[in-house]
Amino acid sequence: MDIVKGNMGWIEVIVGPMFSGKSEELIRRLRRAEIARQRVQIFKPAIDRRYAVAEIVSHSGLEIGSDPVGGAAEILARVDARTEVVGIDEAQFLGEELIETATNLANLGKRVIVAGLDTDFLGRPFEPMPRLLAIAEEITKLLAICVRCGNPAVHTQRLVKSEDLIVVGAAGMYEARCRRCFEPQLAQQGPAAGEKAGRLSDAAAVEEPK
Ligand code: ADP
Ligand code: ZN
Repeated sequence: MDIVKGNMGWIEVIVGPMFSGKSEELIRRLRRAEIARQRVQIFKPAIDRRYAVAEIVSHSGLEIGSDPVGGAAEILARVDARTEVVGIDEAQFLGEELIETATNLANLGKRVIVAGLDTDFLGRPFEPMPRLLAIAEEITKLLAICVRCGNPAVHTQRLVKSEDLIVVGAAGMYEARCRRCFEPQLAQQGPAAGEKAGRLSDAAAVEEPK
């Protein structure tokens, strides 16, 4: 955002597949806001009690403290009137309510920065991110590196057999793949990662904390 006058709020969205650097970019923007002495609040969905740790951690090890929330409405309830910047990670788990929450916060004059997966394990648009992109002032789409061929990767490849939209992720259950190397049928036809499929426990989260 270039020139912003008065206390106008807005919505920034950061999307891309897993490993594309969404959390890193979110943390970078929030740190800079903190350096500018702005009041910042950071939230992430508490998808699973086991993983409800109070930090956002990137795959490269960057960390920032955050508040786990049960849903998007809870964010609205917990944002302090004095808060200037609201950061939200793993937003694909917050459902349709996130649209209203982000809109309300921006209308209140806050800068809202939302990061999340824009497509699921089959490469389909992952709501509510596509709708959020439509109402945002600013959009950043990041790509990862395909672990097969080194090309820019737009997809999140699931390596275990499960057709549930949300699956508890352990290390090695997902990887970044480019358009050519993406094999969505791996998740549908059978375990591609051999014994790793045995560790698939219950449907709850897309990945464990990094
Ligand atoms: P996201 O939030 O999009 O999952 P993170 O910000 O957590 O991404 O992690 C990005 C970091 O992950 C990169 O800076 C890099 O260090 C690491 N990384 C691991 N595998 C890959 C990959 N296949 N492509 C790009 N970065 C990767
Ligand atoms: Zn590839």
